[in-house]
Amino acid sequence: MLVTVKGFPGVLRVGDLEIAVSISDRRKSVRLTVERDASVTAVAPPQVSRDELVKMVEAKRAWLYSKLAEHRDFGEARPAREYVAGEGFPYLGRSYRLRIVESGSEVRLIRGRLELNRGGGAQELVRWYCRVGEPWLKRRIAPWASRMGLEVTGLRVQPLGYRWGSCSREGRINIHWATMQLPPTLIDYVLVHEVAHMLQPHHNNDFWRLVERTMPDYQERRERLRRLGPDLWLPDVGG
Ligand SMILES: [Zn+2]
Repeated sequence: MLVTVKGFPGVLRVGDLEIAVSISDRRKSVRLTVERDASVTAVAPPQVSRDELVKMVEAKRAWLYSKLAEHRDFGEARPAREYVAGEGFPYLGRSYRLRIVESGSEVRLIRGRLELNRGGGAQELVRWYCRVGEPWLKRRIAPWASRMGLEVTGLRVQPLGYRWGSCSREGRINIHWATMQLPPTLIDYVLVHEVAHMLQPHHNNDFWRLVERTMPDYQERRERLRRLGPDLWLPDVGG
């Protein structure tokens, strides 16, 4: 049986880790699991405190990271990019070449080229993905959420480490900026996945049934996402 204690079930954040915590009065100790999609869940006994949970996660941090490295969808091999004219960067499933400009403005996509200031690099491009991603994803997620009878109260685009997205029970969704490199049909899968977490934090049968009802071909998309992950551009700029 699931019972509610202060703040849980809910999401616990420890550094860049997000752990979906549920409470079970059948448990004597905390069970920490890295799910197949690189999300982390914990089942804790009712008397556990937030501090104890944080301590335990910190103690297991090295183990968690090694597990995440095995499971992450992003994969390992990642083509390095140079910030020179002609270099290609993916956006919504297509590759756009860089044009180096002297204009002094921010990165922009114009006439099929990504304009980057001379001397600019990963940080400027990541900021661009975040900036264009937020309005695009907000428009894109609304019809999916309403189809599922839910309302997304906030959406932010940011670095999320190994994860495509995360979701709070209050309906606030975070999406990894690198998601904007994917084709829209795969972004849709990421969005439906996160909206489904508003109802069900765990990847259990109820969760996948909900995803399937909304998106009958989700398994195919999920598989494509797995294969595409390693090809995405993911520079080391804090996530
Ligand atoms: Zn998930």
